[in-house]
Amino acid sequence: MKSKIIFGPAGRPINYKGPAYKASKYIADEGLSAYEYQAGRGLRISEKSSNILKKESNKYNVLVSIHAPYFINLSSDNDKTIDNSIDILFKSARVGEWMGAYRIVFHSGYYLKNKKDETLNMAKSTINKVLDKIEQSKIENFTFSPETTGKKSQLGNLNEIIAICREFDNFEPTIDIAHLYARGNGSIQTINDYNKIFSTLENELDIERLHFHFTRIEYGKLGEKKHHTLNELDYGPNPEIFLKTLIEFGFKGTIICESPLLDQDALLLKNLYENLL
Ligand SMILES: [Zn+2]
Repeated sequence: MKSKIIFGPAGRPINYKGPAYKASKYIADEGLSAYEYQAGRGLRISEKSSNILKKESNKYNVLVSIHAPYFINLSSDNDKTIDNSIDILFKSARVGEWMGAYRIVFHSGYYLKNKKDETLNMAKSTINKVLDKIEQSKIENFTFSPETTGKKSQLGNLNEIIAICREFDNFEPTIDIAHLYARGNGSIQTINDYNKIFSTLENELDIERLHFHFTRIEYGKLGEKKHHTLNELDYGPNPEIFLKTLIEFGFKGTIICESPLLDQDALLLKNLYENLL
């Protein structure tokens, strides 16, 4: 049984020296229960290593997700980019199934010169092609998880992510709080700001467990600039208000820490959470 809110690093723990696919024991020993395997720069992990990750994460009770490669653009004007993106998402689902990932996190794409609603429709039509390809394959267990993105040029505000998740089966949102904060110029400050986000999610989607990314973040005119640690108080969003509101809503949640201190800050978040209960 997973507890209600669990925490873990986005990638290999800071002081862990072994291979990424064997990090589950280390993560569990630290007192964490989630692990987002990073394939942002490419899907290089083999089936064999993926299976070890699956086995060990089950053994140590760590919930695994995978972050798909960054170079996906489901709304490109270029057919080749679209074909590539279909292929990457398809392969991410395959690797995700090998490692038992409960979410395949990905960034949907860019608006480029298109209007926002056109971009969203282009992305949906590409997703249909990914799903067709999966249907013809042996892949059975997959949950895609489009992420709220941090740059204003990127498809992926809250409403767009909800629209994608409403449209397709096997889709659940990744709510990156720092990204929403950055693309809104520091817009999430108060309990009320979080209430709006959580009640929108509650009203629009059937949620069993919400997947989050969290870090403090620096932003500029174009959106996100740089991730900061939890102790760098000059930067938002405030973790305490986030956790407090999340507890009030009663969602089950997985909080993946993307600060530069990964697992160490995930532990800080966990302590903060336990003190709020
Ligand atoms: Zn991401």
